[in-house]
Amino acid sequence: MNIGIFISLFIGIFFLVYLQIDIEKIMQPRKIAILGSTGSIGRQALEVIEQFPDLLKVEVLTAASQSDLLIAQAKQFNPNAVVIADESKYERVKDALWGEDIKVFAGDSSLRDIVEMESIDMVLSAIVGVAGLPPTWNAIAHGKPVALANKETLVVAGDIITQKAQEKAVNIFPVDSEHSAIFQSLAGEFHNPIEKLLITASGGPFLGKDISFLQTVTPADALKHPNWNMGNKITIDSATLMNKGLEVIEAKWLFSVPLEKIEVIVHPQSAIHSLVMFADGSLKAQIGLPDMKLPIQYALTYPARLPNHFPRFSFANYPSFTFMPPDTGTFPCLRLAREASLAGGNMPCILNAANEVTVSLFLQEKIKFTQIPSIIEKTLASFPFSTPKTVEEYMNEDKECRNWMAKTL
Ligand code: NDP
Ligand code: MG
Repeated sequence: MNIGIFISLFIGIFFLVYLQIDIEKIMQPRKIAILGSTGSIGRQALEVIEQFPDLLKVEVLTAASQSDLLIAQAKQFNPNAVVIADESKYERVKDALWGEDIKVFAGDSSLRDIVEMESIDMVLSAIVGVAGLPPTWNAIAHGKPVALANKETLVVAGDIITQKAQEKAVNIFPVDSEHSAIFQSLAGEFHNPIEKLLITASGGPFLGKDISFLQTVTPADALKHPNWNMGNKITIDSATLMNKGLEVIEAKWLFSVPLEKIEVIVHPQSAIHSLVMFADGSLKAQIGLPDMKLPIQYALTYPARLPNHFPRFSFANYPSFTFMPPDTGTFPCLRLAREASLAGGNMPCILNAANEVTVSLFLQEKIKFTQIPSIIEKTLASFPFSTPKTVEEYMNEDKECRNWMAKTL
């Protein structure tokens, strides 16, 4: 054999072996607690975990009330413990898992405390709404790295959450696809100044529609998202553009970038998941299918990129990428979220509470789609300003706001 070919083969094999060892070094097996395992993100996280049985192990599963699905997941993944928030379902779960080596707990306090378990290496925060805040906070306070899908945690209490994460040197890995795209674009660039972040938005099912059209839309219409298959609450948030507003606030806290440097751009194909513009004007983006399994995997296995069998993006299916500015006149929620974040204090918490209440009322067909932003705006204008300093104070503001809305609406 020619000596040159021999040397290149040797170098190639050396690097292959070296890289293999390196991936194993950087990616030790991880035991994951999935908060909200019965939801859209939770179920997809289990699909991801199934692909890497040697590296990812399910340590804890939790649900609000879907006991049968929680039981089935527990039987399949054999976690150390499960928590059902709805205490009336405790006996059912306990009986079904009798004889299995799985601890069963119930109630909100168990949900908050379970993340303290010594054996947990990482917590996937995938509960919907402000209910995700106490356990996520507790995970950070106990030094557990968090893969964060529950954006409401940062919207409501981003100041104290990021402060606690710094104090405890805990990493928060974004799961939200836009923030994962930004995080992926920042890899190797963490010390380079950011000129701005560009967060892409699909525009939702009502892109291009006017107010008179929106007056008559039903929950079924709003739940038909053109690109993403998600839980009901975030699907309605996508239709009102509140989801993008919450994501702007989420990005502000995750990447320490001020609001004025965060731009939203509508990109109906949902292929470019977001972009970073650096100080030299260069733009970096991440492209992929609208499928949450990739950002979930990246958060759970960071910094490794592990081969998987999920479907691949093909430009043949995306003949054009288009972009346009968001229509904040027709969809005021994006503006309301920015205003609440600028006001600071309890205002983002009130924005979030008012949004959760109005989305729920809309889904029950008690209010019209167009009342979602108008009620949120009224609540923000009427509710007294304050500056909560603890999770308990934030949760109290949330409760007070819901009480106030129940009396006033
Ligand atoms: P789902 O509604 O599909 O799932 C929510 C999960 O949280 C379920 O396991 C549910 O349990 C549990 N849960 C709900 N309320 C409570 C409560 N009060 N206490 C304890 N557990 C509770 O939501 P998604 O998976 O769509 O979203 C989860 C989070 O991820 C949200 O913050 C969302 O914004 C974010 N996200 C979601 C994306 C997606 O593609 N779905 C994309 C990006 C972010 P049960 O099933 O028993 O009701
Ligand atoms: Mg998103």
